Amino acid sequence: MKRTLYIQLDTQKCKACWKCIESCSNNVISKINLLWHKHARIKNDDQCTGCLKCVKACDSGALTKI
Ligand code: SF4
Ligand code: SF4
Repeated sequence: MKRTLYIQLDTQKCKACWKCIESCSNNVISKINLLWHKHARIKNDDQCTGCLKCVKACDSGALTKI
C-alpha cells in the first residue's frame, strides 16, 4: 500500500531514515527493513488523519500530500 486518503509514498525516493514513523502518532507507517531492501510502508491507511506531520518530517520528498 502506498497511499492513504491524504498522503502518498514514493518508495523509490525513501532513504529509510524512519523519521516519518516517529512523527506519526497514529501508527500508519511501518518499515520494510530487509538487508538490501529498506523503505517505509503504509500499514494502516484507514488510521491516517491527514495531519501531514510525516510529510514535514520527510527530507527526501518521498511523502507528499495528495
Ligand atoms: S498524515 Fe499524519 S496521520 Fe497520516 S500518516 Fe502522516 S503523520 Fe500519520
Ligand atoms: S521520512 Fe521519508 S525518507 Fe525517511 S523513512 Fe519516511 S518516507 Fe522514507
